[in-house]
Amino acid sequence: MRHNAARRLREFYSHLVEAYGPQQWWPAKSAFEVVIGAYLTQNTAWTSVEKSIANLAQRALLSVAAIRALPESELRELIRPSGYMMRKAAAIKAFVAFLDNFYEGSLEKLADESSEIARERLLVLPGVGPETADAILLYALGHPAIVVDEYLRRVVTRHRLLPEKAKYTEIQALGEAAFAGDAQAERAQHCNEFHAVMVEVGKRHCRRNPVCDGCPLQWDLRYVGSPVRS
Ligand code: SF4
Repeated sequence: MRHNAARRLREFYSHLVEAYGPQQWWPAKSAFEVVIGAYLTQNTAWTSVEKSIANLAQRALLSVAAIRALPESELRELIRPSGYMMRKAAAIKAFVAFLDNFYEGSLEKLADESSEIARERLLVLPGVGPETADAILLYALGHPAIVVDEYLRRVVTRHRLLPEKAKYTEIQALGEAAFAGDAQAERAQHCNEFHAVMVEVGKRHCRRNPVCDGCPLQWDLRYVGSPVRS
């Protein structure tokens, strides 16, 4: 059953890549900007994140050294457009302190850790849940990681690859199984595109109320009937 679900998810990926083409994620100019974006995007739309990133970029603050030197109160004001500015500013500052304490302020040194250790360490930081940790692992550190977000959850549950109440870890394990046969060197690239095309189908079709007509995954519904509304 799991193998079948993984195979189908891999087919979904192929169809979505064919439909949407390369997505070139993450929309950022540096690994550190990815980290900042991963914090800022929590509970907010990407358009709001872009405003905060633009505020930081205007003042040349998108570096570890610049955020280290910036008073937290100023950081809060600059990221105000993304909401939850108190919590997010504190979390970003905590990330920089973590990087300084364990990795001499170097994202490259953090990237040299194994995925397991890096993920474990990220997860104990304030403001970092599994989705943020996996987004940082994948898009800032270049590790193969399946990022589970609401869009992926909708696709796998609406197509009944997993039950409606599937946990983050179950959805992630299914995603990992879908790419398990790939060479290690290709896996990060597939994980990158996988998340990006899932976001795309989520935004275009698999919304709160699914718009299945014209969706690149509509063909699969003949096996499962109408999608579960989740
Ligand atoms: S919109 Fe419909 S066909 Fe497309 S992924 Fe969602 S449930 Fe499947």
